[in-house]
Amino acid sequence: MQTLVLIKPDGVKRNLVGEIIARCEQKGYTIADMKLVEPSRELLAKHYAEHEGKPFYEPLMEFMLSGPVVAIKLEGERVVEGFRSLAGATDPTVAAPGTIRGDLSRDWGTKVIQNLVHGSDSEETAKRELEIWF
Ligand code: UDP
Ligand code: MG
Repeated sequence: MQTLVLIKPDGVKRNLVGEIIARCEQKGYTIADMKLVEPSRELLAKHYAEHEGKPFYEPLMEFMLSGPVVAIKLEGERVVEGFRSLAGATDPTVAAPGTIRGDLSRDWGTKVIQNLVHGSDSEETAKRELEIWF
C-alpha cells in the first residue's frame, strides 16, 4: 500500500525534512519515490479540491505556495492509516505528544493551520493524490 506524504513549506523552511522522514522510516515505512517541488496553483487546486470555498482555502493556498514542499510516495502495510497516526491531529495545539504535529508544529499567529505535513486520508484519496504529484 502507498500514501502521499507532503512536507509542507513550514517543514522545509524549519529544516525538519530529515526528522519527519526519520519518523516514517523508524515506523517501518519505505520511501518509494520522493522529490522537492514548487507546486503551481493549478496543482494545489486539484490537490485541495475538497476544500474549495471553505474560509481557510485561500490562506491554505498562499501557505502552500510560500516555498518548496517535499512530496513522498510512502509505502508499507496500512500506511495510509499509519501515517495519519504518525502525523497527529490537524490542529498542532491538540495533536498528541509523540506525533509529528504534536511534537514539532506551532502555528500561533498564522491565518492558516501550519502543521508541517499532509497525509492522504483514505486509500482512494491516496491513489488520486499520488497521480497528481507523481
Ligand atoms: N486547515 C486550516 N484550517 C482549518 C482546517 C484545515 O488552515 O480549519 C488547513 C490545514 O493546513 C490542514 C489543511 O487545511 O492540514 C487540510 O485540512 P484537512 O481538514 O484535510 O486536514 P488534514 O487532513 O491535513 O489533517
Ligand atoms: Mg485532509
